[in-house]
Amino acid sequence: MEDKRFIADAMMGEVARWLRILGYDTLYNRNYTDYQILRIAEKTGRIIITGDRGLHNRARKRGLRSVYITSHRVEERLAEVAARTGIRLDADPDRSRCPECNGPLRRVEDKSLVKDKVPPRALEAYNTFYICTVCGRVYWRGGHWRNIERILGEARSLVSRIQGPR
Ligand SMILES: [Zn+2]
Repeated sequence: MEDKRFIADAMMGEVARWLRILGYDTLYNRNYTDYQILRIAEKTGRIIITGDRGLHNRARKRGLRSVYITSHRVEERLAEVAARTGIRLDADPDRSRCPECNGPLRRVEDKSLVKDKVPPRALEAYNTFYICTVCGRVYWRGGHWRNIERILGEARSLVSRIQGPR
């Protein structure tokens, strides 16, 4: 497991969810002030993900790692993060964190453990589920997984086109 960890600003909620799906520990709270984000990054070594040039510049002045996101589509945003930090853009549910709360997921093969939290059709169709060890949400590789793969595939193809310093 790589040790890159992130903190996303209020505009980067969707990126934060994706980083968690990719397995990266990512803090996000849309009520964080700029000051809190800078202080947390300073204390924990997290990389700041921001759409705010002012915050980015303040972070850089303090010697903190920060990625200033300039694009709008999530595929492009993920490519920007990858180009500047070297994160991998392939999702493996065994490595993912909870997109909602950043909690680690636990793999579950025993359907009786998730039967109250999963629709009957999914319970029948899948044998592997992932429970968030913090909030208790349950995930599985359902139809949406193809969409996740598609978006990440597009993000990967964009990385090489993005230039700039890490
Ligand atoms: Zn959770």
